[in-house]
Amino acid sequence: MAKQGLLIVISGPSGAGKGTVCRALLDQNPELVLSVSKTTRQPRAGEMDGVNYFFVNQKEFAESIKKEDFFEYARVYGEFYGTPRGAAEKMLSAGRDVILEIDPQGALQVKEAFPAGVLIFLLPPSGAELRSRIINRGTESAENLGQRLSAAADEVSLAHRYDYIVVNDRVEDARDRIVAIIRAESSSVARNTDLIQAITEEVKA
Ligand code: 5GP
Repeated sequence: MAKQGLLIVISGPSGAGKGTVCRALLDQNPELVLSVSKTTRQPRAGEMDGVNYFFVNQKEFAESIKKEDFFEYARVYGEFYGTPRGAAEKMLSAGRDVILEIDPQGALQVKEAFPAGVLIFLLPPSGAELRSRIINRGTESAENLGQRLSAAADEVSLAHRYDYIVVNDRVEDARDRIVAIIRAESSSVARNTDLIQAITEEVKA
């Protein structure tokens, strides 16, 4: 049986740069698998169904909740987002490391349902930088922007419930720190008890 893969949750406030860091991580480490979420929000220019998200309507999303198809789901700025359970579980059983790029409400649900998950909180280098990143993003309406700023402040305070903090000052540095966390977690004693057992038995045989 393949060793179970790691479930790595990359989370943090809007404007922490989760998307950019995840792309850099996946470009450099093609063995990692990104879980594609379902969402009820409209696609933005350039986004593709099945690549960035599975874009679904409210009814389809509600059906997935009812069928318990989600690992976790949350309402973020008025739209629903959820991690499909099946694809992630299949990859983990096959020994692949799976990345979830999700909001902090979802991240904490994953920790409850799946304590072996590794929660990484991506922090901006400063509060002022976070504010300017959210404002300069420019894709949001004024109302949405206000919501994102106040949600970001609340979300930063959830960081102490995570396993690791990575400051996203330079994207490459943040990516490299995440790679180091994944390597260290894969080498932990707790994740290698089967290997220790197997070698002990082989030596004795
Ligand atoms: P956006 O609309 O900008 O793509 O994403 C808005 C927020 O939803 C981001 O914080 C993103 O990480 C989060 N998000 C994306 N997919 C999921 C998901 O499956 N579950 C949860 N809980 N949050 C998600």
